[in-house]
Amino acid sequence: MQSDSALRLVWIYPDLLSTYGDQGNVLVLEQRARRRGIPVETVHVRSADAVPESGDIYLIGGGEDRPQILAAERLRRDGGLHRAVQRGAALLAVCAGYQIMGTTFGGEEGQPVDGIGLIDIASGRGEGRAVGELAGDADPVLGIPTLTGFENHMGVTRLGQGVRPLARTAVGTGNGDGTEGCHIGKIVGTYLHGPALARNPGLADLLLTWAVGAQLPPIDDAWFERLREERLAAVRPG
Ligand code: GLN
Repeated sequence: MQSDSALRLVWIYPDLLSTYGDQGNVLVLEQRARRRGIPVETVHVRSADAVPESGDIYLIGGGEDRPQILAAERLRRDGGLHRAVQRGAALLAVCAGYQIMGTTFGGEEGQPVDGIGLIDIASGRGEGRAVGELAGDADPVLGIPTLTGFENHMGVTRLGQGVRPLARTAVGTGNGDGTEGCHIGKIVGTYLHGPALARNPGLADLLLTWAVGAQLPPIDDAWFERLREERLAAVRPG
């Protein structure tokens, strides 16, 4: 982010991928930046439009199989997200959006569909649908609290060389191998809906910190913390 300008958020393909309140992730970033006195400009990029390359944080949500396949085709053809990430932009990709970022993912019949190959992950179909609460301790290098959210997907995801899990799964399925989501550079992929950033303000601030390039002053998160404790208490065994 340039110091004299607003933080630029880019919400990719709301017409195709935005289920389970994923657009809330955009609202949370806007709010948390503005509460720190950082001006914000948000662009909603529909699937017929080009993805601008000048954003600071890109967001893409989850969705059903067909819109997911369409979104992958269009993003690949467009190339704007690749160029933005190469420039150093941050990205939060949720569920279908997360799977698209990899080399391959499962289509409606489980057939392999090409992803956009932005990161070295590969998704396919799991044994059944993973639906319900998802919680896990975040990768310690990220320095953020236990993550919670809601998952609803058929896909399972394998992480390649150099791509780290976002969390170890304590409750729920996530990637399907005891881990949940991924991170590499300034890219975060996750199966967390809910929306993810409303339920995990630490993750929101991590993305903002990457984009702004400086630590942010703390803000009152008592309400978020209460929600996290409540969700953890609801899913913890015993
Ligand atoms: N269609 C994908 C799957 O079922 C993603 C689902 C979603 O984004 N909620 O795995």
